[in-house]
Order: sequence, then structure tokens, then C-alpha cells
Amino acid sequence: MSGKRSCKPAVKRALVCVILLAMPVRSVASPHPPRQAQGSRLTDNARVRAALDWFTSNISWVNDQQARLTEIPAPPFQEAPRAAAVKELLAEVGLAVQIDKTGNVIGELRGVNEKEIVVVAAHLDTVFPAGTDVKVRRDGSRMAAPGISDNGSGVAALLALARAVQFAHLKPLRTILFIGDVGEEGEGNLRGMREIVDAYRGKLKAVVVLDGSGTDHVTTKALASRRLEALITGPGGHSWSDFGMPNPINALVRGSARFINTKVPVSPRTTFNIGQIEGGTSVNSVPHEARLKVDIRSESEEELTRLESALRECIIAGVRDEMESARDRSKGKLESKVELLGSRPGGELAPDSPLLAALRAADEIVGNQSRIERSSTDANIPLSLGIDAISIGAGGIGGGAHSLQEWYDSAGRELGLKRALLTIFGISGVAEEKSR
Ligand SMILES: [Zn+2]
Repeated sequence: MSGKRSCKPAVKRALVCVILLAMPVRSVASPHPPRQAQGSRLTDNARVRAALDWFTSNISWVNDQQARLTEIPAPPFQEAPRAAAVKELLAEVGLAVQIDKTGNVIGELRGVNEKEIVVVAAHLDTVFPAGTDVKVRRDGSRMAAPGISDNGSGVAALLALARAVQFAHLKPLRTILFIGDVGEEGEGNLRGMREIVDAYRGKLKAVVVLDGSGTDHVTTKALASRRLEALITGPGGHSWSDFGMPNPINALVRGSARFINTKVPVSPRTTFNIGQIEGGTSVNSVPHEARLKVDIRSESEEELTRLESALRECIIAGVRDEMESARDRSKGKLESKVELLGSRPGGELAPDSPLLAALRAADEIVGNQSRIERSSTDANIPLSLGIDAISIGAGGIGGGAHSLQEWYDSAGRELGLKRALLTIFGISGVAEEKSR
């Protein structure tokens, strides 16, 4: 797409489009490297500068929103109260806001070109179950609470971006959707982003995901993963009088021992984790049920498929081993099944994509350096479908994600907010009113 976007003749007279991400056409003799030229063009715009300045004077507002929203619990599948609060804040800045059928909050900033859309998204959900103490403890620029960084910092940045844009009367060429999405974590299985991509697919030009803190990385590679649950059932009985009948836990253990001996390659990096195992009712009962949950990840879709097949075969083999060694098969047999709980597809952003160029240009303007990363985020969905997408941190620093000790420090947050704004407007383009 780079270099092809141009001002549309149909644009209303009052508007001219002036700033494009596309690299300016320059003669070979140009004294400036193209990237610098790109950067200086975006910040030449007074409204872009005004939006950037807004961050400088409003960091405490952003911090306060982050604390307030983090204290509204948002366990998986229960994001609605937080979504309602985000909806209110996006409506306050004049965006047309709706909540879609999946629960995503979508605030629309109409661009000159309504047929092309750039999405900025921060997930609303946390990994923490209902009842978790989410009270934020603040100490200077440091805040601590479950979910404060992942994704309190992303949600706060989403709101800050919308505010700064409104304050500066900044209008994009492409329509920008500011979205607080649901279902990013765990068994949410990216359902919010799936719905967004489904709804806007034909118009979607780029997706910028704000997830967690930091400015040190840009995720352009989507890590593919699958989550599976194995269930083995049997007749169950008494530990003494029914000794010898097939035992589902034994079968599961036998199958698991086979599975964990599966060889996985170092490259493409491939991992597996038995994360949960449960079954049985008491120590003196032959259980009637046993289950385990496995997370498998790989840089290669083929390796994932291979590993999933290995798990299925090992569970069947575990059941067979247990049946063969059972002394008493008259009281019934074992049944097993393996179900796919979730699947996150992989994908990669092309190294020469305009979105990555916009991010690099933004990094250059704010004096930031970032490395390419592979990770599992909301960006997996668009990337798997060939839609340009990145996931970046929202600035500041944080740690202890997914733990009760999670913390966030807003020092340096401004840089992250500026970087995000410049990336977004780098890819959406800026429309400017014609001076009279
Ligand atoms: Zn996250």
C-alpha cells in the first residue's frame, strides 16, 4: 500500500488532505533520509503537536482514569461494567459510541475516507476471577493492583488518545475506531477481536493493539497456540472392593507421561504445558472422572498440529494401557475425549508494511528504539487474515502481569502515548481544514 494513497478528488472543498504516511517523493539528491522526512511532516502539523502536548499536561488525568477503571472488576466474560465506564468516557469526547453484540465498546472518529478504517484497541478483560481484590494502591507514580498494567495501562491510553485528538481537533483521513474489546485473555479466546475483524473486514486497513506497558517492543508476529482439555471417564468404585477396575486417573497419568516425552523442536520454538489436572472425589474411591488442560504454542502451525495429534494419541494410548493392565474389566470400561478449548491462529506482518513504517517513524520522532517481538495478542486475529496489525505497550513500566502483585509506574508514560498517537495518525493520515 505504501506510496499509493493519495488525496481523493471527491473530498469536500473545505478539506484538503495534507499529511500522508506514504513516503514523500523526493529527488535522489534530497539531503534528508526519507524516514526523517516522514517524521518531520507529521509533527509539522499544528494539531498533531497540540495533541502531543495534551499528554504532557494531562498525565495525572490519565493515571486517575487507569486507577478508576482498574478498580471496576472485569473477569473473563464479565467485562460489561468496565465497558459501560469506557463507553461513557469515549462519548464525553464526542465520539459516536456503541457496544456491539459481543460486548466491545466502539467509539468512531469519522475520517475523510469512511471506507477505510484503522482500529485502535485495548482489551478490557483481566485474568482475575470475580471477587479478586482490585483496589489500587498508589505511591507516587507507582500503582499496584491486579490488572493495573495488563490492561489498565492500555485502556487508559485508549482514552487518553481519544481525549488528545478531541482537544486538538485532529481529524484523520481514514476513519479511526477506538475500541475497548472483550475476551482477550485465556478462554475468552480473542472473541472480541474476532467480532471486530468480522464486522469491519472489508474496510479494515490496520489494527493497533495497546496491551500492557512499555515502549521497548512492537509485536508483529503472532504466536499460534491451542488449548486442549482431555477427559477420561469410567465406572468408578471402592478402592478396596473394586480394586482392579480401570481407573481414569491412572489412564490420564499414563497418557500424560507419554505426552510429556514428546520431542518438540527448539526452532521453530514449540512449547507445551500441562496447566491443570483434576479428578476423583476421595482418596478411597476409584474415580469416575479425570481431566487435564494443556496449552501448546509454536512458531509453526504444522508443529502445533503435530503436537495436538500427539496429545490425542497419548490419551488414547493411556486408556489402552490402563485397560490392558486392569485385572477386572467386567465392571465397565474407560471412555476418553480431547476437546479444543481455544485456538489462536498465527501470522506475521510484512517487514515492508506501511503500519510498521508508521511505527518506526513514530519511534524516530520520540527518540525511541524498539525490537520486533512474537507474542500472543489480539493482533493474532487480523494478522492471521493478512490484515496489517501490531501490538505495542502503552508506555510507562510494569511488572507481575497476571499475578496479584501486578504493578505499573507511569514514569515515561508520555513517550508511549506520543508514540501511539504518531503511529495511529501515521497510518490513518491527517486531514486538515484549508486555511482561508
Ligand atoms: Zn493483555
